[in-house]
Amino acid sequence: MEKVFLQKTDSGFKDEIAEKIGLEEIKPCYSCGSCTGVCPAHEVIADFDPRRIIHMIVLGMREEVLSSDLIWFCCLCNSCYFVCPQGIRFSRIARELRKMALAEGYVDEDFLKGLSPVNDFLQDLCRRTLFQKVKEGLRGPHTMPCWRKYTVKNG
Ligand code: SF4
Ligand code: SF4
Repeated sequence: MEKVFLQKTDSGFKDEIAEKIGLEEIKPCYSCGSCTGVCPAHEVIADFDPRRIIHMIVLGMREEVLSSDLIWFCCLCNSCYFVCPQGIRFSRIARELRKMALAEGYVDEDFLKGLSPVNDFLQDLCRRTLFQKVKEGLRGPHTMPCWRKYTVKNG
């Protein structure tokens, strides 16, 4: 288990992100792991774990989160939102983390260029995996408009 040094943490980190998103998106997470269980990116990059990233935000691990390559691997597919009992939309959190990482100089143009082929692969994988899972009967408390034809038909 990774050690957390409290003197290095930023207790306002979660509030900063919640404020940017405009909702109390972070605090209600109770680490059930449903998001990680359906995440297509997690299936191919085991270290990418939305539950863990949220936990790190709640702990105030600002520097570790913003400097991590992992925040760039979310393909923004919203599969996790579909199953999250708390209605947490990790894609919105990921977008804010990336904006902050860019604004604060944690990444540069070369990094983003290098990421491009990985992102193309993940986008395609996420799109195919999500629709396949929904068609196979995956259920969740939240539905995105673009999934409705599948969830209504199956529901
Ligand atoms: S599914 Fe929602 S409540 Fe559960 S760990 Fe993920 S973000 Fe937290
Ligand atoms: S939006 Fe998709 S890729 Fe990103 S954490 Fe959620 S399920 Fe994973």
